[in-house]
Amino acid sequence: MKLDLEEPTMFSRSALAAILAVFAPVSPALAGTLTPPPADQALGRALLKELIELNTQQDHGTTAAANAVAARLRAAGFVGQDITVIAPPDHPTKGNVVVRLHGSGKAKPILYICHLDVVNARREDWTFDPFVLTEKDGWFYGRGTVDMKSQDAATLESLIRLKREGFKPKGDIIVAFTADEEGSGDANGVDWLVKTHRSLVDAGLVINPDGGEAGVKHGRKLYLGVQTSEKVYVTYRVEITDKGGHSSRPTAANPIFHLSRALGRLGDYAFPAHVTETVKLYFAGRSKLETGQVAADMLAMSRPEPPAEVVARLSSVVETNILFRTTCTATEISGGHAESALPQRAQATIQCRVLPGEPLDQVKATLLKVLNDPAITLTDLYPGDASPESPPSPKLLKTIASVKAGMWPDAILLPIMSPGATDSAFTRLGGMPSYGVDAIWDDLDDGRAHGRDERIGVEVFDQEVEFTYRLMKALASGG
Ligand SMILES: [Zn+2]
Repeated sequence: MKLDLEEPTMFSRSALAAILAVFAPVSPALAGTLTPPPADQALGRALLKELIELNTQQDHGTTAAANAVAARLRAAGFVGQDITVIAPPDHPTKGNVVVRLHGSGKAKPILYICHLDVVNARREDWTFDPFVLTEKDGWFYGRGTVDMKSQDAATLESLIRLKREGFKPKGDIIVAFTADEEGSGDANGVDWLVKTHRSLVDAGLVINPDGGEAGVKHGRKLYLGVQTSEKVYVTYRVEITDKGGHSSRPTAANPIFHLSRALGRLGDYAFPAHVTETVKLYFAGRSKLETGQVAADMLAMSRPEPPAEVVARLSSVVETNILFRTTCTATEISGGHAESALPQRAQATIQCRVLPGEPLDQVKATLLKVLNDPAITLTDLYPGDASPESPPSPKLLKTIASVKAGMWPDAILLPIMSPGATDSAFTRLGGMPSYGVDAIWDDLDDGRAHGRDERIGVEVFDQEVEFTYRLMKALASGG
């Protein structure tokens, strides 16, 4: 097995130890009441209902929702240029709203990004109407309750609560409620705002509640994730052509045989192991939730130069293998045109999921080397956009850990790299360190985001409202 493990460059050993210390559970005595005051609890729920019942599927757009959010903000005392409702001129239904709570200028602004659109949901697939907020047996049902209208409502409520209190943040708090995050939307609000209205959203720190992950297993709250990075995907077409001919006169040039051998080589290949700063911290924290060999292996993985046998064991499990390796896999194949003809063409689709920090052209070069056939052509179907890792800053993790400790002392804090994509890719590409965090405690064995009967626990929602408020205040106080 080839190893390419780097010494941690971001931190000294002692800084790493300081970060690990925040994983330690704190005394339950610190946990106070976890729900917001009654008026804020009621407002949070009202905002959730309003947002769920504004249908923001792709073909409906987000402008009506953006206007509804703006109306709530005006009613809360935000005025004039501090609220901007804005859509790309060629996509008037893909509206965004950006709001600013002014700080004292002692720190750079903090930007929250919250998408307003949802994945399509069909009434006939659901037990309840997905666009009516339904409360039943301690759950709120509705499209967006997990992804991400609960976080939208919690963020909006927190901002309104801080405004009402007369809270003066150190740096401005900006919230952008945006369009077109889901699916293949062509008017992604975050991408568009960062590229064309930078001054509206420019910040020193970005919080994306959509990238958070709060894991529950068998009813136990295990970890609160802080997403610092994500894999990016790139898709290629591999193709081999030949002049073909009669199948009674086979030749060595047969494209199907060539392609099969090349894909076989790819199937046997593993990209080098590369443990990013985030994944080191992830394994260090995660090892506390495991036992026996797995716990020992994860702990070893968080240290410089883990032994080859540890890497091999964790490579044999999909869920851990994908955390420290770029992967490229075949997803589609086609070839030939008649039963009795030599094929003139064979092609396959290969999709790669690339670790942050690994150059995409290098991945392509490796791929060509592994396929190892001069007859092959490799073309980009989806070129991808590299997105760097945001450094898992000890100060930020400490602030989040202290808010978490005041609410859920027994759960650990876990820096995470998402295997999938969020809007944070755009802000990271724009040079703004971005972190995904929320407290939508969700059963790891019953994830319903994007699925039917999407739901959130009523208590979980109320606590998300409180958590968002506390974290926003702590971050904006310079924590
Ligand atoms: Zn989302």
